[in-house]
Amino acid sequence: MSERYDPHCVFCKIARGAIPAETIVETSEAIVFLDINPVNPGHLLVVPREHHAHLCELPAAIAAHVGGLLPGLCRAVQAATGADGVNVIVNIGAAAGQTIDHGHWHVIPRFHADAVDWPWPHAEYLGDERAQMRFRIEREYKAMKAD
Ligand code: AMP
Ligand code: ZN
Repeated sequence: MSERYDPHCVFCKIARGAIPAETIVETSEAIVFLDINPVNPGHLLVVPREHHAHLCELPAAIAAHVGGLLPGLCRAVQAATGADGVNVIVNIGAAAGQTIDHGHWHVIPRFHADAVDWPWPHAEYLGDERAQMRFRIEREYKAMKAD
């Protein structure tokens, strides 16, 4: 049983079997079940058993474990729903649309004519903004890896 458990968290409760879900796969590190309010039918959630608020806080080994599940899950969703494509999405923080503060991945079957408003808009970099942005993120990433 995971030490990282929040008794108020719906995904922790599902991971422990305390509330029901339509479960597809359970592994030592993660549980995969149907989203209760799907974007399209067949929409899955891939949820690490441990309670971490979002992907940024997840141990790399757990993220790698989930990453290993994703190709097969995408194939299964596509085969079962006849989807034309699949979105794998992680929302980190309310500004990004996260509503449940227990990190998770969405696997969403997509259809050419579905009602999803996608793709999102694209901006442009001006002047050397792109190079500056690359530099800033690279610097932060290297500093965090050195911690
Ligand atoms: P997010 O907005 O990224 O935090 O995603 C949370 C998702 O959890 C939403 O798509 C909800 O429909 C889904 N959800 C909430 N409660 C449950 C539940 N009890 N069982 C399955 N999915 C749920
Ligand atoms: Zn939780």
